[in-house]
Amino acid sequence: MSSPSIAVIGAGAAGTAAARTLQAAGVEVDLYARSGETPYNRTLVNKGIAIGLLEPAQAALPDTGATTRLETVRGLDPRSRQLRLDSGDTGAYDALVIATGSRPRALDEEVIGRDQAISAGRLTTLHSAADAVRVRDLLATTQPARVLMIGGGLVASETASLLIDASHDVALITRAAIPGASAIGEHVARRLRDLHRPQHAAYLERTVRSIRTHTDRISITLNDGSKVEGDLAVVAHGTVPAAPSPWTGPDGIPVDSRLRSLHAPRQRIYAAGGVAVHHYPGHGSYRIDHWDDSVAQGIHAAKALLHDLGMAGDPGQYLPSSLFSASIHGHTLTGAGHPALGTRSRIICEEPLITAHYLGDALVALTGVDSAGPLRDLMPRLHHPDPAADPVTRQGA
Ligand SMILES: Cc1cc2nc3c(=O)[nH]c(=O)nc-3n(C[C@H](O)[C@H](O)[C@H](O)COP(=O)(O)OP(=O)(O)OC[C@H]3O[C@@H](n4cnc5c(N)ncnc54)[C@H](O)[C@@H]3O)c2cc1C
Repeated sequence: MSSPSIAVIGAGAAGTAAARTLQAAGVEVDLYARSGETPYNRTLVNKGIAIGLLEPAQAALPDTGATTRLETVRGLDPRSRQLRLDSGDTGAYDALVIATGSRPRALDEEVIGRDQAISAGRLTTLHSAADAVRVRDLLATTQPARVLMIGGGLVASETASLLIDASHDVALITRAAIPGASAIGEHVARRLRDLHRPQHAAYLERTVRSIRTHTDRISITLNDGSKVEGDLAVVAHGTVPAAPSPWTGPDGIPVDSRLRSLHAPRQRIYAAGGVAVHHYPGHGSYRIDHWDDSVAQGIHAAKALLHDLGMAGDPGQYLPSSLFSASIHGHTLTGAGHPALGTRSRIICEEPLITAHYLGDALVALTGVDSAGPLRDLMPRLHHPDPAADPVTRQGA
């Protein structure tokens, strides 16, 4: 094929990385971003925009060299290789990377009073630049504000920490007894919980039953009957994949080891980042929603595409091994790989804390607190059998 027409849908972490890799290989790319939205770095939504450090324009991503088309892709037909665009136009492609990311998991629609709180601007997700502007504007009118953070994962914990630093009051409401344990492993999540404790209230093992919106505040009733009041509630309890039709359901786009769509084999459709659902040998399906891993997936999908077009070698199996980190109450949580793949874990260093996560004898992830340097040194061991994972040390799970 002399000059293949390549489309990338989604101009975030995975999409821009894929576009840059393809452009560098001499392939022209059409990069589709949402209508009316300048592509931006989502990690700055809480760390920059919501706390008033950055204007949304300052979170814009650098140019990739691809032709950027600001038009939401509504759907596609894998057989005719046509995209359906917001304007009603169509776009043709020979090969396609879908990198449309995720959307925030909403608060259950059965929560009484949810919609009134949203309409009054007192209940919001914190996923987009528009969400961040909403939070920033409300915080600007109420100093200090009382913020109810619904969720206990990395984004919720980091945002809670940022708000405390900005002199606001925060209460964390989480379903889990040890917030974040499924994402970072129990040992590190316990340490994280201990970091939160002196800083703010935490309602653990609680869910939201109902919300009452008043003119100047909201009050939330939890499942145990207790009540908590705030100026604003932020929902940050995970994401679900966001794909164009025919993948609009909650299941994302299942991919093979080269990130080719399993639903459209041989049709040169690839998926990367928060929208892609992977399978790990000996494990079920999994999805990762971290920036660096999405970048790695975007690059991998682009290389697989170039290979399938006969323009490059086989990039091999995609295995998650990127770093992620979060600054929480003056400490840095660092991870590499995907801890949720592990079926057991053991502490390999108490201070600074480093935990290894294993699937069988293979080291699949590392997590730690204030241990970025030594954790990085261990990264080459990821996805290899670890001689230290013997039956004696296995008891450390
Ligand atoms: C508040 C917040 C803070 C975070 N902080 C961190 C952090 O510190 N470290 C970290 O590792 N991760 C962090 N993350 C997670 C990280 O941002 C995501 O994992 C990463 O952005 C996923 O990359 P992606 O390319 O899959 O999706 P995105 O970067 O979200 O990009 C997807 C793009 O596709 C566009 N799109 C969607 N549908 C369409 C369509 N139909 N047509 C055209 N365009 C479309 C979207 O508008 C978006 O621009 C954070 C997330 C949030 C919400």
